[in-house]
Amino acid sequence: MNKLLVVGAGTMGRGIAHVGALSGFDVAITDKKGVDVGPAVLSIRADLDKGVAKGKLDATLRDAAVARLRASTDFCKDAEAADIVIEAVFEDIDLKTSIVKHLEEHVRPDALIGTNTSSLSITKIAAAAQHPGRVIGTHFFNPVHIMQLLEIVMAEQTTPATLERTLALAKTLGKTAIVVKDVPGFATSRLGVCLGLEAIRMLEQGVASAADIDTALELGYRHPMGPLKLTDLVGLDVRLAIADHLHRELKGDQYKAPDLMRRMVAEGKLGKKTGQGFYRWVDGNAVAG
Ligand code: NAD
Repeated sequence: MNKLLVVGAGTMGRGIAHVGALSGFDVAITDKKGVDVGPAVLSIRADLDKGVAKGKLDATLRDAAVARLRASTDFCKDAEAADIVIEAVFEDIDLKTSIVKHLEEHVRPDALIGTNTSSLSITKIAAAAQHPGRVIGTHFFNPVHIMQLLEIVMAEQTTPATLERTLALAKTLGKTAIVVKDVPGFATSRLGVCLGLEAIRMLEQGVASAADIDTALELGYRHPMGPLKLTDLVGLDVRLAIADHLHRELKGDQYKAPDLMRRMVAEGKLGKKTGQGFYRWVDGNAVAG
């Protein structure tokens, strides 16, 4: 039970692969056809190196993780071998259901399929599967190697055995699990996105600067990171997709994405990953403006 296939080599797929390899899984990571996953593997290695340089990770553990991690060169073979598959592709229900359908043509019937959606219906995603009982929401947080939480979301079809396996997975990965019902945004995104959108509206209305809005919650409410910096870290495009989904499903105006957010996404100001969001990002650090 030690072969993990990660589908989607973006921010979250890399993080899940990183933690999987460190926790003893043989990890293969893949992306859509035509995308070279080599740079993703190099960036995971660079993150592991950073851990060693900072004295937070033993070099022998890093070396073992590097040896267990590779870019998938044969999707069919890696899917067939996988005990666990976790998808971390864009937040799009049609894409995620098509991925699950495609996966099921290749994985063994006993393989567990986790979907790392932040807000979409696990029940709808599971419905695309022939064996929907083994589909479950595995919502990790960014950066995956640092964030302690794994939000497990039960589809209507998820079996108790799948939940047990996922709880065991959380333990192996060193995560604290919570188990949540399949409702839009689950427990985390429903609250977190609400706060992020309100902070953007406040910025739009000139209430305070981005840095001061963040400081308000960091010092006033002991949040480890303010909502605007966090939105930069998550990616404005990712959060916009979640907000639009929550607005469609839950209707409340609190989920209506502000114009400023749409404009920034259209301009490619997606946050840390593009170097510009509510902050400028230089060498991985946020700089005001
Ligand atoms: P991302 O944009 O960084 O990466 C998405 C990856 O999916 C890209 O590499 C893309 O090429 C790949 N992809 C697209 N179509 C594919 C296909 N057909 N087959 C294989 N790969 C394909 O996005 P992300 O931030 O990593 O988010 C991925 C998922 O994780 C989303 O569902 C998001 O809501 C969720 N999530 C994100 C965060 C966050 O902080 N960014 C946190 C928790 C959960």
